Amino acid sequence: MLQSSSTTVGDIIRSIGSANLCSDTPLLDCHLLLSRCLNKPKSWLLAHDEYCLTDDETQIYESLLERRIAGEPIAYILGSQGFWDMELTVTPDTLIPRPETELLIETVLATCRSAHQRVIDLGTGTGAIAIAIQRERPNWEVWATDVSAAAIAIAEKNAAEWSATGIKFLQRNWLTNLGKRKFDLIVSNPPYIEQNDRHLPALQYEPASALTASDAGMADLKTIIRQATGSLTAGGRLLLEHGYDQQTQVSDSMKNEGYTDIALLADYNHVPRAVLARWSPDRYQQEK
Ligand code: GLN
Repeated sequence: MLQSSSTTVGDIIRSIGSANLCSDTPLLDCHLLLSRCLNKPKSWLLAHDEYCLTDDETQIYESLLERRIAGEPIAYILGSQGFWDMELTVTPDTLIPRPETELLIETVLATCRSAHQRVIDLGTGTGAIAIAIQRERPNWEVWATDVSAAAIAIAEKNAAEWSATGIKFLQRNWLTNLGKRKFDLIVSNPPYIEQNDRHLPALQYEPASALTASDAGMADLKTIIRQATGSLTAGGRLLLEHGYDQQTQVSDSMKNEGYTDIALLADYNHVPRAVLARWSPDRYQQEK
């Protein structure tokens, strides 16, 4: 327990090393929790080392710190996570957007240069991918689906917050029940972790349905690869995020379904992280 009557910002920051915090970034976590508790930016914390917390503030800080010590991700404690140029609302109904997923946005912007594209983000969660694309390309027609109504509600809230008002959000399982509509680009960061993966205990706060898939994590990736053949325009593109060891399986599945121009992409950590492919039904028929 902190000694409330004499606890200063400096005391808390200096003592974070001895808190039983299982985090790669204890100091950053401490700054974020203190900022939230005192409603002040980090610059204020650094300039007010001697500020003495009130009893209420101390109690709030301790309850936030306890949640962090129990392993709850900082994004759920704060209720938000940075992605691209935004701060997005996240709840336990949504996966926490990861920085490596920004690779998908960079790839879309670098690859699809037409003034008008019809794009869909499958399993949108917080809406991160769809909203980033719509903000970067306001003239594109952006759609997004998620099987979870709660996730769609969060995504719609984020879209409104970040003025990406044109996105059409639908509660759907991947591409099912979208009619005959065709898309120039289908993008997704689906669940791809194996159901007994050793990393899962560390991800226990996030919805399992957004993280894991059967068939060694490949089931949803394969479903999307198959379904997308019926929903892409000729020459349209499919861009999928996948696990660090799934790139060959993903590109093989795409080849088997008739995709061409397959590009293997790595994230900023140089980990194989996404595959981009083109749906060229005519070329496929000729080569067969
Ligand atoms: N990239 C996330 C992780 O490894 C998982 C996201 C996903 O399953 N799509 O923690």
